[in-house]
Amino acid sequence: MGRCAIDRVNQPTDGNIADSDSRPRALSHNVPDMSSGSLKQSVTQTLGPNHTSSYYAASANPTPERPALQHDISADVCIVGAGFTGLSTALHLAELGQSVVVLESARVGWGASGRNGGQIVNGFNAGLDGVKKRFGEQTARFLGEQVQDGARVIRRFIADYNIQCDLKPLNLYAAFNTRQMQALRDKQALWKSYGMDDHEILDAHTIQDHVRTERYVGGMLDRSGGHLHPLNLALGEAAAFEKLGGIVHEQTRVINVDNIDNDPVVITENGKVRCEKLVLCGNAYLGSSVPELSARVLPVSTQVMATEPLSDDLAQSILPSDACIEDVRYILDYYRLSADKRLLFGGGTVYGGKDPADVEAKLRPNMEALFPQLKSIGVDYAWSGNFALSFTRVPQMGQLGPNTFHAMGYSGHGVTGSHLFGKVLADALRGDTDAFNQFVQIPWRPFPGGQRFRAPYSTVGSWWYGFKDRVGL
Ligand SMILES: Cc1cc2nc3c(=O)[nH]c(=O)nc-3n(C[C@H](O)[C@H](O)[C@H](O)COP(=O)(O)OP(=O)(O)OC[C@H]3O[C@@H](n4cnc5c(N)ncnc54)[C@H](O)[C@@H]3O)c2cc1C
Repeated sequence: MGRCAIDRVNQPTDGNIADSDSRPRALSHNVPDMSSGSLKQSVTQTLGPNHTSSYYAASANPTPERPALQHDISADVCIVGAGFTGLSTALHLAELGQSVVVLESARVGWGASGRNGGQIVNGFNAGLDGVKKRFGEQTARFLGEQVQDGARVIRRFIADYNIQCDLKPLNLYAAFNTRQMQALRDKQALWKSYGMDDHEILDAHTIQDHVRTERYVGGMLDRSGGHLHPLNLALGEAAAFEKLGGIVHEQTRVINVDNIDNDPVVITENGKVRCEKLVLCGNAYLGSSVPELSARVLPVSTQVMATEPLSDDLAQSILPSDACIEDVRYILDYYRLSADKRLLFGGGTVYGGKDPADVEAKLRPNMEALFPQLKSIGVDYAWSGNFALSFTRVPQMGQLGPNTFHAMGYSGHGVTGSHLFGKVLADALRGDTDAFNQFVQIPWRPFPGGQRFRAPYSTVGSWWYGFKDRVGL
């Protein structure tokens, strides 16, 4: 999760490509034995086919290993990427009886979808007020109404397919100062005008019912938000898709697409897929396999750590209502309790998608500043992942030809957006293009500076927004 107000200053790279040396190696989750208690995993992003050593991978529901593609096949629809965007598209299409194959270079949920903060946040990274100023009232209203569907899609999938992913209600935006509180009040009013009536403003006293720290002056509770185990959601969606006849090939990296502007043929190392429609859902990890998309987004890394399980008393002393929290700064903290009462604490952003050397060293001071009682608590897992930042912070959907579609750029707020986009893409593929066309019309801009100059821009950008947070601007 990242707010990353980076409209002007950015950076680039191809990101950490899922598996630049991706010959299939061991096909296991590659996670540590937790029986010894506080076993700290110093983690960087896995540049290979197994899940990063996250708490989520360690607590994943059993899942089969799907075979890599080994020969040429054909399908109505081929989807690249088994994250939430790809899986939501795939499941919606399978529900409509389409023959769909999903190609994933690593494992189902390997990317941002299986390693994120698990927070169901309504809205995109770009605030609706900013969207309104930049793109007009009609676009803001369209996004405001559409985006509430993402959480509905998630809840429907969980209910319809009985997905065990620790779903819990409540999401809270926390404010450090009165200026941020006023912004939350304005946000509540704007959302209300778009039909969202689930927000409640909290003052310094009432916020203590949800998060107990002296640092916040108030916040806004979203009763239709919530949190869950994201990797188990992805695995459950993949299983549901397969039950409906869908096929997932893991360890299958798409290295090229022929005829992208007409009849796409998807090229992998050991087989081709001929398809009527192609949907590209590789997001921050797509890298240069589809060069037409690489200038559209910037990979940005953000980090999460999981403490050892907290006692009931300690958990109550932090998050009594079990809501998930994100603060409203540009470079924000986001945190929640897991089902076994670990504090999952996220934050930090590194433009360009590089991992910090020591995730815990980066995150721990922020956690202890909020909750001094956690000074001696152990950290069992710490990991990093990439989200795709778009220049306007509005996600993008579009076409590279009549039969090739793409969706990307949720800018750190994509758990709901990716599920919504899957639904909109599936509708478009079956001929209902109303919502798709409106998303396509929202202008996008390439990141300035090209491959060469994005890095220095991003460093300046990161410093500038950190400075604004520190002085409360
Ligand atoms: C650490 C972290 C914390 C976050 N926390 C939150 C949060 O709490 N709430 C929130 O709303 N959002 C959060 N986000 C953002 C959210 O997770 C993403 O926006 C969302 O998961 C994007 O889903 P996706 O399917 O588009 O991309 P991904 O989940 O990244 O999936 C893309 C998949 O495509 C595969 N792929 C890429 N290229 C190829 C190729 N050439 N061939 C085959 N496969 C390929 C990758 O291996 C990957 O599995 C967070 C992101 C991160 C990294």
